[in-house]
Amino acid sequence: MENRRVRLRFAPSPTGGLHMGGVRTALFSYLYAKKHGGDFILRIEDTDQTRFVAGAEEYIINSLKWCGIEPNEGVGFGDGPYAPYRQSERKELGIYKKYSDQLIASGHAYYAFDTTEELDAMRKRLEAAKVVAPQYNSVSRQSMRNSLTLSEDEVNKLMASGTPYVIRLKVPRNEEIRFHDIIRGWVIVNSSQVDDKVLIKSDGMPTYHMAHIVDDIEMQISHCVRAEEWLPSAPAHILIYRYLGLEDKMPLLAHLPLILKTDGNGKLSKRDKSGLPMFPLNWSDPRDDAHYTGYRENGFFPEAFINMLAMLGWNPGTTQEIFSKEELIEAFSFERVNKSGAKFDPEKTKWFNQQYLRMKSDAELAELFTPMLHEKGIHADPKFVENVCKLVKEKAHFVHEFWEGGSYFFIAPTTYDAEVIKKRWNDKTAEFIKAVTEAYKNTSTFTAAETEAQFKATAERMGLGAGQVMQMFRVCLSGVGGGPMLFEMVELLGRDEVVQRLETALATIKPVVQS
Ligand code: GLU
Repeated sequence: MENRRVRLRFAPSPTGGLHMGGVRTALFSYLYAKKHGGDFILRIEDTDQTRFVAGAEEYIINSLKWCGIEPNEGVGFGDGPYAPYRQSERKELGIYKKYSDQLIASGHAYYAFDTTEELDAMRKRLEAAKVVAPQYNSVSRQSMRNSLTLSEDEVNKLMASGTPYVIRLKVPRNEEIRFHDIIRGWVIVNSSQVDDKVLIKSDGMPTYHMAHIVDDIEMQISHCVRAEEWLPSAPAHILIYRYLGLEDKMPLLAHLPLILKTDGNGKLSKRDKSGLPMFPLNWSDPRDDAHYTGYRENGFFPEAFINMLAMLGWNPGTTQEIFSKEELIEAFSFERVNKSGAKFDPEKTKWFNQQYLRMKSDAELAELFTPMLHEKGIHADPKFVENVCKLVKEKAHFVHEFWEGGSYFFIAPTTYDAEVIKKRWNDKTAEFIKAVTEAYKNTSTFTAAETEAQFKATAERMGLGAGQVMQMFRVCLSGVGGGPMLFEMVELLGRDEVVQRLETALATIKPVVQS
């Protein structure tokens, strides 16, 4: 085991859009592989033909690309030495059959001919006998139609006549199964809890249990990282490795904790109502035509999204929260992944985006904001847009909020905050606005510092406190009572625009008569 090359796979089934829990599984595998100079592989587990969803595979590939967690081997990312990477294509290699034949030959698997009706009848029988979790196992298989109960002759006859059959794992009745999970430590299960899992289905396709083991072995996978929901199947997997004589080649196991709803009550579902997306990209499910919005389309930066995901269940052991991808690779270990579920926190998720927004240069933000302006028919000077970004980014979590917070930089206001007017507009403040307008016409340099000095001097001369007129002044310029640093805004709008806006305001705003 020691000198094995580090090779981790992300092995989704193309049964729908990849939700954020799946992305986290991919992320943790990617981080570990990169940290150890290993490989990260995308394998598509499409053996369940009945659950195949068109577009899902492409969605998975695009999501990984957007998140920047790109496999160096696998479907959509260039074939490596273990192609093909889709299980439906790997079936053609005959590998699944080879391994299941080996299990049959060694007496650790058997053929079962039971029909759906017979299986239902068995379940009902066991339920009636008050068996808690009825399953096909070492006891119940004795009364079923399989190659353990039927004679060799009967089996051959059934096979020859084309009777459908499955291949099942022969799980011993009462044996202790021990395995180690990097996150959970030692897990001990009695084999009486484990059912005789189907390994090969009647359509000849392997089940997940058989296929992933064969592929992990064939692809030299060193670590099998997957969702907690697979933990109950792990004991059966241990037996399969054991019966194939491959226990020493088995990947190390890591079962990731669940992502829980914000209130901690149960698993986060794809229909969560927290108001944030559950999917990396927009996803339309062709089965029921349901639409789910994506982090990308909601204005999240991929760096913020993966940083947030990394902190869902993992912690660095320090107070650091913001990690670039490179820093995550450096810091990541499975030992620091929690056993218990991680609560999804929508506010914190937005906070992450805000942190990344603040780290971007004004030029980068302008590049993202400009197309949104174009959509509104606004084609402003690039330097001006950059300066607007510089001012409005302070209060925003997302670039698209720049418009809401700063549309008045591009369009002069036509309405004015009624609350502020009601409180502040009177003959005296109107007079003040008029005086400031005149002062601004003659200000030598129209800078933030200079316009602020003029503003204060005018207020002082008229016996007004700056606080009495500041907000009103802002409303005259922008229409709204809040916004970025006032005199930075004044400087950016420029003398002509400011004078014009103040004059328009003076002509438009009428004092509200107090009743
Ligand atoms: N195909 C399985 C799934 O989508 C993969 C589990 C694993 O990684 O082994 O959940």
